[in-house]
Amino acid sequence: MAKDELQQCVRCKYVADKEDNYCIRCGAPLKNKCTKEKTLLHKGCYKVNKPDAKYCSGCGTETIFSEWGLI
Ligand SMILES: [Zn+2]
Ligand SMILES: [Zn+2]
Repeated sequence: MAKDELQQCVRCKYVADKEDNYCIRCGAPLKNKCTKEKTLLHKGCYKVNKPDAKYCSGCGTETIFSEWGLI
């Protein structure tokens, strides 16, 4: 399998398939998504940021990795 088809869990270092959203070993999110959710006033963001981003580069909201205390 090509290296770009894999991703590594930031919490337990488990190497998961690229299409997986959560780690099957520890349950941590594998994609560093923006936590800005859809509301009546905003369509939500859900942008996938770099693994080391604590805040979304698109809207400045905290990312899920930061919210979970993973980074
Ligand atoms: Zn994990
Ligand atoms: Zn965002």
